[in-house]
Amino acid sequence: MHELAITQSLVKIALSKAQEAGALRIRKINLKIGRLTGYVPEAVEMNFEMMVPGTRAEGAVLDIQWIPIRCRCRDCGAEYQSDQLDLTCPRCGILSGQIIDGREMFIDSIEIDN
Ligand SMILES: [Zn+2]
Repeated sequence: MHELAITQSLVKIALSKAQEAGALRIRKINLKIGRLTGYVPEAVEMNFEMMVPGTRAEGAVLDIQWIPIRCRCRDCGAEYQSDQLDLTCPRCGILSGQIIDGREMFIDSIEIDN
């Protein structure tokens, strides 16, 4: 249930950004979440819908883009994508992948109405 906490901070950041920009309403929030975070998109969306009524983000579209897990092999330097938690290098077949992408979560952009 850690989606609740991250959705809370997401809404908080989006609302303060909208306020800074003098926006009346947030139309859309473009969010990027790395697959390694383990967050469930439906849970993030559900929490979001629960939190926004009565705020500038009411009715806003939450656009979630998932960032695949990307690794670099510590042995041969190959870069590869992984959709699971198996970080085995496809070139040399040993488990020595260093994670480059997939652990992050951030607001890419916010679309507002002034
Ligand atoms: Zn390798």
